[in-house]
Amino acid sequence: MSELQTVKIPDIGDVEDVEIIEVLVSVGDTIQAEDSLVTIESDKASMEIPAPLSGVITSVLVNTGDKVSEGSDILVLDVSASATPDSATDTSADTTQQSISPNRESAGSETAAEAAKTAAGTSSQSATSKGSLNIDGVSSNHDLVVLGAGPGGYTAAFRAADLGLDVLLVERYPDLGGVCLNVGCIPSKALLHTAAIIDETQAMAEHGVSFAEPIIDIDKLRSFKEGVISKLTQGLAGLAKQRKVTVVHGVGRFLSPNSLAITDAESAAVTTVGFSKAIIAAGSKSIRIPGLPYEDERLMDSTGALALTDIPKRLLVIGGGIIGLEMGCVYAGLGSKVTVVELSEGLMPGCDRDLVRPLEKRLRQSFENIFTGSRVVSIQTGDSGLQVNFEGGKAPTTDTFDRVLLAVGRSPNGAEIDADKAGVKVDESGFIAVNSQLQTNIPHIFAIGDVVGQPMLAHKATHEGKVAAEVAAGLKSYFDAKTIPSVAYTDPEVAWMGLTENDAKAKGISYEKGSFPWAASGRSLSMGRNEGLTKVIYDPNNKKVLGAGMVGPNAGELIAEAVLALEMGADIEDLALTVHPHPTLSETLNFAAEVAEGTVTDIYVPKR
Ligand code: FAD
Repeated sequence: MSELQTVKIPDIGDVEDVEIIEVLVSVGDTIQAEDSLVTIESDKASMEIPAPLSGVITSVLVNTGDKVSEGSDILVLDVSASATPDSATDTSADTTQQSISPNRESAGSETAAEAAKTAAGTSSQSATSKGSLNIDGVSSNHDLVVLGAGPGGYTAAFRAADLGLDVLLVERYPDLGGVCLNVGCIPSKALLHTAAIIDETQAMAEHGVSFAEPIIDIDKLRSFKEGVISKLTQGLAGLAKQRKVTVVHGVGRFLSPNSLAITDAESAAVTTVGFSKAIIAAGSKSIRIPGLPYEDERLMDSTGALALTDIPKRLLVIGGGIIGLEMGCVYAGLGSKVTVVELSEGLMPGCDRDLVRPLEKRLRQSFENIFTGSRVVSIQTGDSGLQVNFEGGKAPTTDTFDRVLLAVGRSPNGAEIDADKAGVKVDESGFIAVNSQLQTNIPHIFAIGDVVGQPMLAHKATHEGKVAAEVAAGLKSYFDAKTIPSVAYTDPEVAWMGLTENDAKAKGISYEKGSFPWAASGRSLSMGRNEGLTKVIYDPNNKKVLGAGMVGPNAGELIAEAVLALEMGADIEDLALTVHPHPTLSETLNFAAEVAEGTVTDIYVPKR
C-alpha cells in the first residue's frame, strides 16, 4: 500500500520567496534520502534541497521560476516504495536539515572522483553533510572551501568540482573574478585597446590618411569597459552554477584548521562552515606609501584609475612598473599629459634593458615627462590640483597635477584572514609559503595566486589553482611549470619568459643569445613600426632554449611560442627549422633563432 508524504522546503534561515532555479527530479523517479530535489537561489547563495526520505516521486508540485519559502510543498513521495528506510531517524517529511548534494557528474574519470572523495577525507555520509548556506547561525560542511574568487580561486573551485568535490567558494565582493576581471587585467586591456586605436589613427597621418580628432564620450567608454567585465563575471556565476559550486558572498576568516567564519558584508550575519580541505586564494591589494592624502579622491590607486571618472589634463603616475605604465598609456591615449616618476634608474626594473629601451624611447614621445631615479616626498591637496614635491633625478622640486595614480606595487592579503587560527604560517609581508603541491605548512590547507608570491599574475594564479584543486582531490599533481611569462601591455608591448639576461648575469649562468631587430621585419615595417626586438637566450653547451624576450606590437601574443619551446625542451635548431608564416611578427622568433644558428638571411650577421 502506498504511503504518501509531502516534502516541503525545510528551514532555510532568514530568507523568503527564494527562486527555484532547477527542478532535479521527475514523477516516477526513485530517490534515496539526501538526493537533491530542487536548487534554490537567494541573492546570497544557491543551494540544493535534499530528500529527507527515500521513495518514489508521485507528483512534483513546483516548477523552475517558482518562489518558495520554508514550508512550501515541493513534491509528494511514496515512501512505502522504499525497501530500506534511510539512515535518518527523523522520518517526518518536513525536515529542518538540508544538505549540499555531492550528486554531480565528474568531469574526470570515476576513479578520479572516487579518489577525490577519499582524498577529501569524506565518507559518503560526510559528503552529504547537513547544513545551510550563508544563513546566520547555521553551519555546513564541505569537502573543500575556497577563500577568494579571483582567477586562482574560481579556477580551483571549478576544477575541484569537476573532480567530484563538494565545493564552497567564498568571495567578499558581489561579483566573482577578483582583481583580474573586475579591477585589473580585463578592464585595463579594454581601455588599452581604445588608447591603441586612438594612437593608430593618429599614426595613420604618416601613411597619408588623416582622421579628425577623436571625440571621447567617457561615459560610453566606461560602460563599454563595464560591459566587458559584467559579461565575464556573469559567465563565471553561470559556470559556478553549472558545476554546482556553492557561492557565498561574505568576508571569510579562519576559526580553526577545519572551519571558517563568513561575515555577510551587508547584514554582518556570521555563518560558520566546516571543511575537510581549504584553498586560500585571497589575492593582493595596492601598496600605499605612508603619509599621502588618501582622503582626496584625486589621489588614486589602479582601481580608481580604471574607474575612469574623468580624463585629467595632467596625470602623475608614481611608479614606472607594468601597471603604472599601462595606465599611463591609457590616459595618454585619451589625451592626458602623463608624467611618470620612478625610484629606480630605469622603467620596469628587473626587465632586461634592451627590451625596455624601445618602450622608454616611445613613451618619452607620448608622455609629458619620465623622471627616473626620482621620488615623491609629499603631496599637498589644493583647489587647483595636487601639488607634488619630488626629490632626486631630473624631477622638479614641485609640480601640480589634476590627478595622481599611485602604482608602486601590490601586497598580499595573507595577514587578513586569521590564518594563524588554522595554524597556517604567514610571513611579515603577508605571503603564505607553499610547497610544489601548493600545500601550506598545514597540509590540508593550500594557498595559490598572489598570496603565495611573485610573479603576481593571473595566469600563475589559475595554473596554481588547478594544481591545488587536483592535489586536494587526490591526484598527484605538481606545480612544475618551467616559466611564468610576463607581459607589459604598453605600446610597444614588452614580453619575456624563462631566463633573462639580468638573471643570468646576476647568477653567473653562462648563456648565448640570438637577437633579431624588427626593423628588418617586413610585417613590422608595414605596420609603420621599426623599434621592436626579439631575442632568444640559450645554453651554449646544448643549444637548449633558456629564455626569450620581445618588445614590439603584439609581443604579448608572440611570447607564447617561446614558452612552449621552453616547456618542450626545444633547442635553437628547432626554432630555426620551424617554418613560420610570412609575413608575420612571429617570424622574428624564427629569425632570432637563425641568428643564433648562423643561418639567417634576412639580416647580415658577420661571422664570428
Ligand atoms: P585576486 O584576483 O586578488 O582575487 C582574490 C579574491 O579574494 C578577491 O576577489 C577578494 O575580494 C577575495 N578575498 C580576499 N580576502 C577575502 C576574504 N577574507 N573573504 C572573502 N574574499 C576575500 N595579471 C596578469 O596576468 N595580466 C594582466 O594583464 C594583469 N593586469 C593587471 C592590471 C591591474 C591594474 C592590476 C591591479 C593587476 C593586474 N594583474 C594582471 C594581476 C592580476 O590581477 C592578479 O595577479 C590576479 O588577479 C591574482 O589572482 P588571485 O586569484 O591570486 O587574487
